[in-house]
Amino acid sequence: MKKDIEWTKIGFSYIKTDKRFVSNYKDGSWHDLGLIDDDKIILNESAGVLQYAQTCFEGLKAYTTVDNKIVCFRPDLNAERMYDSCTYLEMPPYDKDKFVEAIVKTVEGNIDYVPPYGTGATLYIRPYMFGSNPVIGVKPADEYQFRIFTTPVGPYFKGGAKPIVIRISDFDRAAPKGTGHIKAGLNYAMSLHAIVDAHNKGYAENMYLDPATRTKVEETGGANFIFVDKNNTVITPKSTSILPSITRRSLLYVAEHYLNLKVETREIFKEELKDFKECALCGTAAVLSPVGKINDHGEDITYNMDSMGEITKKLYDTLIGIQLGTIEAPKGWIKVIKE
Ligand SMILES: *Cc1c(COP(=O)(O)O)cnc(C)c1O
Repeated sequence: MKKDIEWTKIGFSYIKTDKRFVSNYKDGSWHDLGLIDDDKIILNESAGVLQYAQTCFEGLKAYTTVDNKIVCFRPDLNAERMYDSCTYLEMPPYDKDKFVEAIVKTVEGNIDYVPPYGTGATLYIRPYMFGSNPVIGVKPADEYQFRIFTTPVGPYFKGGAKPIVIRISDFDRAAPKGTGHIKAGLNYAMSLHAIVDAHNKGYAENMYLDPATRTKVEETGGANFIFVDKNNTVITPKSTSILPSITRRSLLYVAEHYLNLKVETREIFKEELKDFKECALCGTAAVLSPVGKINDHGEDITYNMDSMGEITKKLYDTLIGIQLGTIEAPKGWIKVIKE
């Protein structure tokens, strides 16, 4: 039976659910514990994650489709990205197929927390891994834990998608050859000061520029950018220090194959921002969130402040339709957890 939760009233915060998946890495291999009840982790005071931040994560959602199936969206790409994050952080990657199986198991164990269709709410899934044994000399840990927990989250936009105002940041998110391309917890730790500062000054997000030349657009702290130009071409920045968003890759496919629009992935210079017609952020949490205004050190670049731009809206409606089962999905995009 579904849990007694007011699905349309919950926000984006942690609510404990019944089960979490755990696997431990020791003596060179992974040992699955499977689903457990305990939400607490006991660690040594010198655990690698606590001293040297050796941790990475993923984020995806399970939700109910129009025909009442419980599904998630392209979990194979989360498996692949986590594999890459682990490799770069000198952590032992978890097998990609087993990753998807573990996602399915975790959602099955919390099936009564998957919000019903039409509420806008979803079950957010958080896979993550961390170095768990004591480390004091700087080196990778020898033991690791891989876990997946879930938490129901509310609709990202309560009362419609209102365009946000962001600023061009003087802080950097990633170093040119650093960790910007992987989903490392440390990227978020160092973005906290910048986002608190932005919020204090009235901006919803930071637009980070490329750290080497500060002339090109990268992304925000947790979402990629897409732009639409005067010819309705959908353009997204190219850089080795951007996190490869699954939502962004899916939206580009939708633009090209469902909406017959031209798409480009290329370097985007700050000077070009004023020439675009639409700007939006994309990521799992909101899918697409329209940007109404970008503040560049006191000067405003303005798009549409009243509502989502026309192309942004089409992209949004199509991807949401694919996810919720009202529009046919490309092969392999929807992983059915419960028929
Ligand atoms: C997770 C994340 C995104 C969004 O990726 P999705 O796969 O679309 O959810 C974008 N930027 C950063 C820095 C991220 O960590």
